[in-house]
Amino acid sequence: MTGVFIDLPGQDAVVAQLRRAAAGAADLLAGRRAEPGAMTHAWLFTGPPGSGRSVAARAFAAALLCGTDVGDAGGGCGECASCRQVFAGTHADLLLIRPEGLSYGVKQTRDLVLRAAGKPTGGRWQIVLFEDADRCTEQAANALLKAIEEPAPRTVWLLCAPSAEDLVPTIRSRCRVVTLVVPSSAAVAQVLTERDGVEPARALAAARAAQGHIGRARRLATDASAAKRRADVLRVPSSVTSLGPALSAAAALVRTAEEEAKAVTGELDEPEREALRRAFGEGSSGKGVAKAMRGMAGAMKDLEDRQKSRATRVKRDTLDQALLELALFYRDILMLQLGAGVELANPESDLRKLASSSTPEATLRRLQAIMHCRERLTLNVAPLLAVEEMALSLSEG
Ligand SMILES: [Zn+2]
Repeated sequence: MTGVFIDLPGQDAVVAQLRRAAAGAADLLAGRRAEPGAMTHAWLFTGPPGSGRSVAARAFAAALLCGTDVGDAGGGCGECASCRQVFAGTHADLLLIRPEGLSYGVKQTRDLVLRAAGKPTGGRWQIVLFEDADRCTEQAANALLKAIEEPAPRTVWLLCAPSAEDLVPTIRSRCRVVTLVVPSSAAVAQVLTERDGVEPARALAAARAAQGHIGRARRLATDASAAKRRADVLRVPSSVTSLGPALSAAAALVRTAEEEAKAVTGELDEPEREALRRAFGEGSSGKGVAKAMRGMAGAMKDLEDRQKSRATRVKRDTLDQALLELALFYRDILMLQLGAGVELANPESDLRKLASSSTPEATLRRLQAIMHCRERLTLNVAPLLAVEEMALSLSEG
């Protein structure tokens, strides 16, 4: 596969659908007769985390804005200035929305709807790519609905959400749904080998561990600290032998997640503050500077509030990811104990000892303890408390 859809392993049906739509869109722009129904103005990209919903939406945006004529095949070249700008997130006709906090409010949505109604500067389409559209509050969803019901002629909405059910029915029913599937480990490994130059056996191990999540597989295969953090998480099952070790394993798990979250948000925070200072002309002098500085203080406070809210979300997501890895480890153990012939996420050699020293019932109980802990965390129970409770359950026979 070449062009803009190259990073979507195992998504052949989706790619075919989007190519057809992009070809239809090109026909519409050229005033040719387009395949009826191939193109529409509101799309909903769904699929489990990591299956590539936003990658697919981004590729589709590039295909719609591509400056190269790729003929009847549809889809963008992936190489022209326009395609490159879409992937870099700098294209003038692409509005990229990524809710940073836990929810996306009505005021932000109204601003967005106004901006989305503008004419495309490049004469093609004005595209709004809305990641995590399920984080819209109910009021925000209503504001969005109006824009989707009565779209500007050249505006295309690309919403992303884990599943169609995550959006209110009124919005869902006005979007064409694109359903991404979990790609096979082999398909993910192939991309890691061909695009990232990862050695095949290592690529396959990373793809299995990431369970079809391509971004995560790539990090595990290429980033040593991500691989180490995963190893730390997977040391938990063999270390929770009694009360003391269980509590220290819990503390380590929470600390590891916090460190990882800090690394992620730390990289984003300072450049954002720097950009804001530059926008307000910090360091310059002359008329109006004092006034601008007062404006900056307010904007900086807003930015810091958003960053704080993002930090909370990343911390929560990171810990949840660690818990899912732990759950996957016990799922693998359960599969071994039941003799089910499914593909394992972890190397069998790491699992055998624990599998033979416990029963399927005990493993199920442990899985339940992990799921219960995840639930408690969504209810804002203090992380250490919830994880300690879980670790104690894991340590019981
Ligand atoms: Zn192009």
